[in-house]
Amino acid sequence: MTDDSALSPACLAAGDGRLRHGAALKFFWGPMDCGKSTLALQMDHNHARQGRRGLVLTRNDRSLGPQVTTRIGLAHSAIEVTDDLDLRALVRSRWADGFRVDYLICDEACFYTVAQVEQMADLVDSYDVDVFAFGLATDFRSALFPAAQRLFELADEVSRIQVEVLCWCGRQGHLNARVVAGAVAREGAQVVIGDTVDHADVRYQVLCRRHHRAGDLGPTAARAS
Ligand SMILES: [Zn+2]
Repeated sequence: MTDDSALSPACLAAGDGRLRHGAALKFFWGPMDCGKSTLALQMDHNHARQGRRGLVLTRNDRSLGPQVTTRIGLAHSAIEVTDDLDLRALVRSRWADGFRVDYLICDEACFYTVAQVEQMADLVDSYDVDVFAFGLATDFRSALFPAAQRLFELADEVSRIQVEVLCWCGRQGHLNARVVAGAVAREGAQVVIGDTVDHADVRYQVLCRRHHRAGDLGPTAARAS
């Protein structure tokens, strides 16, 4: 170790040996297709360009691989989050290997465990690592994901992503419908991976509240079924 051994972990987290005041836990949320993963990668790019070092994490990315992919064609390798991953241990292991970690990009954070959201808060408060989380707020029944609920409770900042996603009727779409065999599902496991490509076994479609509650997928769906 160098002189860094005299510094607290929080100072090491800053990478440059200075304690930065103001690490924050920020949660960006919105329905599918609103550009969450695109914003996650843009955030990583912006911080990396300023010389900061971060880790990109995801869970259940649409590619089903350890990467963040976006519907507009961007991709970035990522660490796949599993239930037993301790985010603090992950950062400590990187530090032990001599790498700086100034921030985490946590894509698909709605699928993380509640314990992992607590770990995000620990990283901000005790390690001075910024955590930027991106995800859905609600599941296919329009109920909060447990991790999203905890992020709403703990985050320093919560932002609704402003890219509008429209229901087929033209209203703003806030809710993610799970479509199984052409109908809006009302029961089932909270997490079932599908994509928004038509005619998959399970797919998701963004609807306005009115049509989510009515289970109305619109005239295109009616013609296709
Ligand atoms: Zn609608």
